[in-house]
Amino acid sequence: MTIHHNFIAGRWAEGAEAQDNVNPSNTGDVIGEYARADREQALEAIAAARAAFPAWSRSGIQQRHDILQKVSSEILARKDELGRLLSREEGKTLGEGVGEVMRAAQIFDFFAGEVLRLSGEKLASTRPGIDVELTREPVGVVGIITPWNFPVAIPAWKIAPALAYGNTVVFKPAELVPGSAWALADIIVRAGVPEGAFNLVMGRGAVVGDAILNDPRVDAVTFTGSVATGKKVAAACVGQMKKFQLEMGGKNPLVVLDDADLGIAVDCAVNGAFFSTGQRCTASSRLVVTDGIHDRFVAAVTEKLKGLVVDDALKAGTHIGPVVDQGQLDQDISYIDIGREEGATLAFGGERLNRENPGFYLQPALFTDTTPEMRINREEIFGPVASVQRVKDYEEALAAANDTPFGLSSGICTTSLKYASHFRRNAEAGMVMVNLPTAGVDYHVPFGGRKGSSYGPREQGRYAAEFYTTVKTAYTLP
Ligand code: ADP
Repeated sequence: MTIHHNFIAGRWAEGAEAQDNVNPSNTGDVIGEYARADREQALEAIAAARAAFPAWSRSGIQQRHDILQKVSSEILARKDELGRLLSREEGKTLGEGVGEVMRAAQIFDFFAGEVLRLSGEKLASTRPGIDVELTREPVGVVGIITPWNFPVAIPAWKIAPALAYGNTVVFKPAELVPGSAWALADIIVRAGVPEGAFNLVMGRGAVVGDAILNDPRVDAVTFTGSVATGKKVAAACVGQMKKFQLEMGGKNPLVVLDDADLGIAVDCAVNGAFFSTGQRCTASSRLVVTDGIHDRFVAAVTEKLKGLVVDDALKAGTHIGPVVDQGQLDQDISYIDIGREEGATLAFGGERLNRENPGFYLQPALFTDTTPEMRINREEIFGPVASVQRVKDYEEALAAANDTPFGLSSGICTTSLKYASHFRRNAEAGMVMVNLPTAGVDYHVPFGGRKGSSYGPREQGRYAAEFYTTVKTAYTLP
């Protein structure tokens, strides 16, 4: 089997080690072998990005536009093949995989346009005769550390703006999904990014990630992943005075009020909680439901769950693919045990499933009779596990929705304009959804959360410029 190499300083470089990339739908299926860099190679990539920065930061906007546009076009042209690879290595369904790949193409297209739209401001000075000019300049070398759950879209929404605004990149993807990362890197490289401006360094978080965090030649780090690692990223970056941005966990509530359209509420809950195997930081893991609709809602969600097919991600007809790996499966099952021990009722699912091939299959799990202080309502599980919390009215629902250390996405299903408007204003979250699932966002508007979910400027859309550029204020006496 050929080994997929890292891309460092303008060439494909053999890793210190190699790893098998295993299909979670069928653990006998090895997708490929991928390089694992050591610390030395991570440092080489950083040095290359540093060396490439002066030229790339001053490159013409037409060149940067054209490269990003070319990346977008190739991703789109190969969406079925890349979507298949993504689903094969991560375990989301083929439809979800192809959809994510299309999203990556849209993101590169959007930032190709942003290259041309970047502008500054010219103001009068408070001192007569002086001009004041505000411009945005690239930050420098950006370290990009990404998780496994969106193996193409998250790298895209970090790499595209980084390159668009003239930064050079050291990209470290998650260990579980090197295939999508490698394919994306190959496209970026062939689109004509100059030597050193873009580097792919596959490898371990504690080795390659750590090297990126602790090297003073890296100016900024953008990270999506767990809270525990996010805290390490923050501590290292503060110590180095690097700019950083974190997207971490969620414990996103979906409030369902008595006056909700039951069909919409059930669709939002099932989609938000269980699609993509619940492995989304925006997943609706807490369903906060008022008394009058509670029993009908639970019955309808349970009915819907019975009809969902959990199977091989690549099979036609699969609604929910496997969990990503054994470690995540163990975590999901351990939280199901914790929920039972805490006194919650397992109303549906939670069983380990066997399918044609050996894989990490888990039946979606729905808990009822849960209370706010239970661990299953406070800690991010990151699997197809959701809990219903019964509340008496809207006020209690809002309080329950906000009663969490997280604040990424918060949803409500209601036909009341009064409650929808009040919730929109008072939900303590970066994103609010009315009659829509908590997961599923647009790419041209800001993405991010509050409280323990996120740190630093928002990602995506033109707000991305906040992180990937730094403002210069120039005073001139002509
Ligand atoms: P997840 O639960 O999504 O795997 P992690 O936070 O463990 O969350 O991983 C997210 C990314 O952070 C991955 O690319 C991982 O390799 C990287 N990572 C893990 N540990 C460290 C670390 N100590 N320093 C830097 N990066 C790390």
